Amino acid sequence: MSRGWRIAWRVLLGLGVLLLALAGWVAWQAHRRPSLAPYAAQQLPALPASAVAQVPVRMMFLGVATVLLDDGRTPILIDGFFTRPPLRRVVFGRIAPDPALIRQSLARAGITRLAAVITVHSHYDHAMDTPEVARQTGALVVGSASTANIARGWGLAEDRIRTVADGDELQFGDWRLTVIGSRHAPTAVTGGTIDAPLKPPVRAPQYAEGGSLSLLLRHGDHALLVQGSAGFVPGKLAGRRAEVVLLGIGALGQQSDAYLADYWRELVSGTGARRVVPIHWDDFTLPLAEPLQAAPALIDDVDHSMRWLLARGQADRVDVRLAPAWGWVDPFAGL
Ligand SMILES: [Zn+2]
Repeated sequence: MSRGWRIAWRVLLGLGVLLLALAGWVAWQAHRRPSLAPYAAQQLPALPASAVAQVPVRMMFLGVATVLLDDGRTPILIDGFFTRPPLRRVVFGRIAPDPALIRQSLARAGITRLAAVITVHSHYDHAMDTPEVARQTGALVVGSASTANIARGWGLAEDRIRTVADGDELQFGDWRLTVIGSRHAPTAVTGGTIDAPLKPPVRAPQYAEGGSLSLLLRHGDHALLVQGSAGFVPGKLAGRRAEVVLLGIGALGQQSDAYLADYWRELVSGTGARRVVPIHWDDFTLPLAEPLQAAPALIDDVDHSMRWLLARGQADRVDVRLAPAWGWVDPFAGL
């Protein structure tokens, strides 16, 4: 072998080793998920079945930003994402709602009918299943123009779709919803709109964000703010009050501490919230039938977000609590 060939061979070998190391690191980070054990004490207690009916406004967390809210008369659902396709299919394949899995999940949550299913934005982990949930429960789909196109693509009739934008107010039974324009967390998939009916199966990025919404839900004297994604428009929530914020923390662990402080100021201090319930912390490529696990280290740092929020909550006397999946809780208990 000539000297030139020997050098070329060594360079190739070196590159191969580097590539293998990188692939190994990615695979390791994709499977490394922080333990939730340190936050077990922070969990809101699930209501015993006998107590549920006595709680006037209750909620059930169902992974990502899917949250069931009920007053015993008018159940409403945020997002309604149950299919949770595996990572391989999300990256390399095409995805679509799984009607049978959605039916099973609705049954497990005790959902037979819904007044509305309201999406925070149009990414697949929020809005993909929304129209099938509406089809199975009789709900009205409420969301952005992009979400409306997801519903149309699934064949939902126009009178079952309500397109909303910043400032819109809707009433469902005793629930009063105010839609407030917001922003998505800064990520590689932020932005874009769905401008025509979207017919799955499609590639995951075809579920473009379509603009993000904050949802202010008032019921009697109670007010609860749902922030599905960790973004904000400075000053946008000025004058809005909420006792409880369901705070999306997806991708928050990748942001600077200055960003976390801004997010807290806008969403928590700004609304006078006394309780924060982090949502959108789980790995949504794993089935909902299994116990939820934190998002993998490859895409987020849930530990960092949780530690930061707990410390800040302690300093500001804001109660930071996780909600158990599949259990009814009283979001306003003890406030
Ligand atoms: Zn999103």
